[in-house]
Amino acid sequence: MADTAAQPSEEEFRTEALEFLEANARPRPPEKLVFGEGSDEVSVLPERTPDEDAREVAEAKDWAARVFDAGFGWITGPAEYGGRGLPGSYQRLYSALEAKYDTPSQAPRMIGLGMIAPTILAHGTEVAKRAYLRRLWRGDIIACQLFSEPSNGSDLAGVQTRAVRDGDEWVLNGQKVWTSGAQYSDIGEILCRSDPDLPKHKGLSAFLVDMNAPGVEVRPLRQMTGGASFNEVFFTDVRVPADHLLGDVNGGWTVALTTLMNERAAIGGGGAAAGGGATRRLLDLMVHLGATADPLLRQAYADLWIHLQVARWNNERALSKIRAGQLPGPELSIAKLSLTENMRRTAELAAQVLGPRITADSGEWGTYAWSRYLLGVPGMRVAGGTDEVMRNIVAERVLGLPKDAPPRA
Ligand SMILES: Cc1cc2nc3c(=O)[nH]c(=O)nc-3n(C[C@H](O)[C@H](O)[C@H](O)COP(=O)(O)OP(=O)(O)OC[C@H]3O[C@@H](n4cnc5c(N)ncnc54)[C@H](O)[C@@H]3O)c2cc1C
Repeated sequence: MADTAAQPSEEEFRTEALEFLEANARPRPPEKLVFGEGSDEVSVLPERTPDEDAREVAEAKDWAARVFDAGFGWITGPAEYGGRGLPGSYQRLYSALEAKYDTPSQAPRMIGLGMIAPTILAHGTEVAKRAYLRRLWRGDIIACQLFSEPSNGSDLAGVQTRAVRDGDEWVLNGQKVWTSGAQYSDIGEILCRSDPDLPKHKGLSAFLVDMNAPGVEVRPLRQMTGGASFNEVFFTDVRVPADHLLGDVNGGWTVALTTLMNERAAIGGGGAAAGGGATRRLLDLMVHLGATADPLLRQAYADLWIHLQVARWNNERALSKIRAGQLPGPELSIAKLSLTENMRRTAELAAQVLGPRITADSGEWGTYAWSRYLLGVPGMRVAGGTDEVMRNIVAERVLGLPKDAPPRA
C-alpha cells in the first residue's frame, strides 16, 4: 500500500513536476500550421523504416526512464510494484503539464501500458507483477498483444494456438497475426487453447511470453500504405514458465476481456482528439484550394465538425465514469465507432476536395500526402474490434435489440 501520510498536496506535486519538466524538456512551441510549410504527413498508421522504429523506441524508452526515476512514471500504481500510489487527479495534472513540453512520442509503449500492464496487475502472478510491471512503466521493456490469428479475429474465442502443460512449463505452438509492434517488443500477452475438449470460451489460457525465447519468429507484414507496423508471429515449441500464466488455467477468456476493455478505452477514449488534427489540416487544404466556396463541401465539413464535437462529449462521459472508478461499457464501443466514422468522413471529404490529386503524386505539398490517410482508415475500422462488432454491442447493450446469432460452437 502507498504511504498516504507522505502524499504531497496537488500544489506540491505540481511544483515538483514543473521543476522536473523545466530541467529536462523544452516548452512545446505554439502549434502553428501554415499550409505549405513543414511536413505534410497526414497518416493514420505508422509508416516507419526499421531504423526509424529503432530511433523512436530508444527515445521513448530514454524519456520514460527519466520520468519514472523522477517519480512521475506510474503515478497511480501500487507502491509495491513501482507505482506512487497517488489518486488519478495527480496523473491528470502531470499529463496536462507534460503536454505543454516537447517530449518524445510514447506511441511504441501504448499497447504495453494501456492494455498489457493493467491485465498483469489484475491477473498476473506475484512473480509476473514483480518481474514486469516496474520495467514496463519505466520503459525498460515493451509489450505487445498476441490475440488475433489467421482464422480468428472478431471471433476471438476460437483461437487455436495450443498451450500444453509440461512440468513447470507450458509449451506453445501456433501462429498469431496483425501483432502491432511485435518487431520491437520484449514480452507479449498471448491467448492460447489449453483444453480443446472444453466449449471454446472455456478452454483458453493467457500467458506472458518472452518475445526473444527460442521458437518465436516475428515476420513483418507490409500494409497497403507502404509501412510495416504489424507482424505475423510464429510459435514453435516455445516454453513458458508456469508462473507466467495470467489468471486461471482455462480462465483466459476473462483475462482477454480485461485486455479488450482497456484496449477500447485506449483507442476510443483518446479517439476524438486523434481525429481532430487531420480535420484541422483538411480545413487548411480546403481554404488553400478554394473549396470552402463550394456550399456542398462546406456543408460536409460542418457535418464532420459537428460529429467530432458529439464524439468528444461522448468520450467525456466515458472518461468521467473511469474517473469515478466505474467501468465504462458501451460508451467505449460508441467512442471507438465514432472515431472511425469521423476518420472515414475526413478521408472521404479529403478525396472529394482533392479529386485526382489524391491518387497521383505531382509533388504538390499537402495533396498526395492524404492518400496515406485514406488508405489507413480501413485498418482503424478493423483494429480493436471492427465497426460491425461495435454496432452489435451498441445494438444489443444500449438499444436493447435482439441478440446477434451466437458464434459457431
Ligand atoms: C491496425 C490494426 C492493428 C492491429 N493490432 C493487433 C494487435 O496488436 N494484436 C492483435 O492480436 N490483433 C491486432 N489486430 C487484429 C484485429 O484485432 C483483428 O483484425 C480484428 O479483431 C478483426 O478480426 P479479423 O481480421 O480476423 O476479421 P474477421 O473477424 O474475420 O472479420 C471479417 C469481417 O466480418 C465482420 N464480422 C465478423 N464477425 C461479425 C459479427 N458477429 N457480426 C457482424 N459482422 C461480423 C467484421 O466486421 C469484418 O468486416 C490489428 C488489426 C489492425 C487493422
